[in-house]
Amino acid sequence: MKQSHLFTKTQKFAPKDEITKNAQLLSRAGYIHKEMAGVYSYLPLGLRVLKKIEDIVRHEMDNIGGQEIRMATLHPSEPWKKTGAWNNVDVVFKINSRTEKEYTVGQSEEEIVTPIAGEYAKSYKDLPVMIYQIGQKYRDELRAKSGIMRGREFGMKDMYSFHSTQEDFDNFYEVAKDAYLRIYTQCGLEAKATEAAGGSFSEKISYEFMVITDAGEDDIFYCTSCSYCVNVEISKQNEADTCTRCNKGTLKRAKASEVGNIFDLGTKYAKALSFQFKDTEGKNQYPIMGCFGIGTTRLMGVIVEALSDDKGIVWPASVAPFDLHLVAISGKDKEKQALVSAKADELYTALHKAGVEVLYDDRIDLSTGVRLAESDLLGIPYRLVVSEKTLEKGAFELTTRATKDTEYVSTVQLIVGKIFKGSRY
Ligand code: ATP
Ligand code: MG
Repeated sequence: MKQSHLFTKTQKFAPKDEITKNAQLLSRAGYIHKEMAGVYSYLPLGLRVLKKIEDIVRHEMDNIGGQEIRMATLHPSEPWKKTGAWNNVDVVFKINSRTEKEYTVGQSEEEIVTPIAGEYAKSYKDLPVMIYQIGQKYRDELRAKSGIMRGREFGMKDMYSFHSTQEDFDNFYEVAKDAYLRIYTQCGLEAKATEAAGGSFSEKISYEFMVITDAGEDDIFYCTSCSYCVNVEISKQNEADTCTRCNKGTLKRAKASEVGNIFDLGTKYAKALSFQFKDTEGKNQYPIMGCFGIGTTRLMGVIVEALSDDKGIVWPASVAPFDLHLVAISGKDKEKQALVSAKADELYTALHKAGVEVLYDDRIDLSTGVRLAESDLLGIPYRLVVSEKTLEKGAFELTTRATKDTEYVSTVQLIVGKIFKGSRY
């Protein structure tokens, strides 16, 4: 994409009311646009990042047997009344219609997905089923101060699984946990699976996936030696205690953000919404249900919080809006500008053909300093500068955003080799 064509522009300052790093950087760089507290639109660059995150999640969910659907956003109130959530869950939006009916919008989808699964799964032979969607959620959150990390409208992948036996559920639970950890690694983050009580859903153990960041709302203890991690809120342990899992490391306290969680819901929703199947002896049973959430937009915010530097965002290659930022630079001399532009145009076409996603800053008349600062702010993993100097050299200047290392590369083949080395998942 040519930058002259991109309708968004970077901004020197973030909106005054944005206090978190993720919202400040993403707004300034033109990835998101705030509509009101906790509600953002995703602009071309932001949507590209979000889609890449979603694709990583989708790939892993498909890989463990998930089937993607798209559930309705507007929900009838009846199933919500049946499960009790209408009155018991404080973040449920309630909409009055002129038809005198009441509706809600999806804040979680147990009330919708359980009847869908129940319509088709009649026998133990039809189970397990794992159904997921990636889309918007709406919650009447009291505080929405963390930029895109806590929204009133936000992106989530939510999967629901239905099993004929507890054992089958327990096995799948571990499979899902591993898939979750792979997702965070691919997004360039280190997530720890906490051991925590299941909150309002169930009394059973659940996993919360935590990424250490000062912008997080949770407090965790984590082991300095193994992967043990626990939410401070529920823990009887103290900082500096010896880790109970490995008996080697000690516990450290840190702020963290929950980028996903998985719960055992038991038979609560199946009972409330009358989903039964016939077991091996022909008896009616309620399936064991699990729910598996990942905050896709929160994940994007946490990546910015965890990986940015004083110059701007540093995207991991796997979720960056583009692989490469091609920047054509020249002085005021029109003839020289034409030569540089011609070479940059040629590279743009060749790189595109080679499968590289390129953002091409073709605005050769604008100030070089401003454009390079802008390039740092945008955070694309590699920058390729074509200038009068590089034309003389017969090689282009390739800079890695994360390390600031610069090297000279002379051919498209070499550029492709450098930027795709180890970066494609
Ligand atoms: P939290 O404790 O942060 O409110 P939750 O327990 O309500 O999260 P779930 O309802 O299980 O979370 O949602 C699954 C995932 O969706 C969470 O792990 C988190 O990553 C994300 N999420 C939840 N609420 C929000 C929100 N208001 N804005 C952005 N992401 C959210
Ligand atoms: Mg919540």
